[in-house]
Amino acid sequence: MNSSYRGRFAPSPTGPLHFGSLIAAVASYLEAKSRGGEWLVRIEDLDPPRVVAGAADDILRTLETCGMQWDGAIAYQSRRSDAYHAALHRLRALGKVYPCACSRREIADSAVSGIEGPVYPGTCRDGLASGKTARAWRIDTRGADIGFDDAIQGRVAQHLETDIGDFVLYRADHVFAYQLAVVVDDAEQGITDIVRGADLLDSTPRQIYLQQLLGFPTPRYVHVPVAVNAACEKLSKQTRAAAIDAQRPLPALLAVLHFLGQNPPHDPGTTNIAALWDWAIASWRIEHVLRCRAMETREA
Ligand code: GLU
Repeated sequence: MNSSYRGRFAPSPTGPLHFGSLIAAVASYLEAKSRGGEWLVRIEDLDPPRVVAGAADDILRTLETCGMQWDGAIAYQSRRSDAYHAALHRLRALGKVYPCACSRREIADSAVSGIEGPVYPGTCRDGLASGKTARAWRIDTRGADIGFDDAIQGRVAQHLETDIGDFVLYRADHVFAYQLAVVVDDAEQGITDIVRGADLLDSTPRQIYLQQLLGFPTPRYVHVPVAVNAACEKLSKQTRAAAIDAQRPLPALLAVLHFLGQNPPHDPGTTNIAALWDWAIASWRIEHVLRCRAMETREA
């Protein structure tokens, strides 16, 4: 085992595993296993309104029937608020985090548009206007120019202040933001390599910025294309992507391998899961994954 490689799959339990999330699972698993590394699973059940009861167990069972074995114990974000609190506290001590009283409407009215929509105009950076109370906590992004080289997508660079804006770390509904939680968890779990969908490519500079402020190492990043339907919508619960058939996962695994540019030699009638993984781990070539952010699939 190559203990210097540690990857992970970090599903949000908003529904069963579907073709779109299986792509990230398989790509991260194959990168880890083909390098003799470890592969951890973390359930990102941070956001109570989005969590679906039973979905986490369902995802884990499906990974098992797909023949994907994880290393170590499963981590659950819902049990880690103390760690997120401590990180927020450290960022406050650095003078980088400030309370914000602005409503969504106020921001939309005054903001210019960035990569992901309205860029927060910095209204509360120098203190709350009198009579206003804090709703959320934001991080000051002034001066943050962050670039990194993604192993598939190439160079990505953002001037965070104008491309994204001061982003929220602790939400008005008292939930820690994904951007903070993921950075704290990846650091604590010693993740060296992050393989995930390219829908998160634009989040990565925010995460690297937080890593730098908190003194955490920056992992290597690999963003694989996300699967979209014919209407160019990401496969997700919202677009009613079908759950992976846990009784018969082989066709879905073969389709994922094709999606990732690998060329599995067997057809579903003549192979079994263990043989497929042996082949896939031995033959995995990250350079065969297409360099694009999204690709159409018929697996919906
Ligand atoms: N939980 C996120 C998702 O399911 C993935 C987060 C990550 O891989 O960093 O989209």
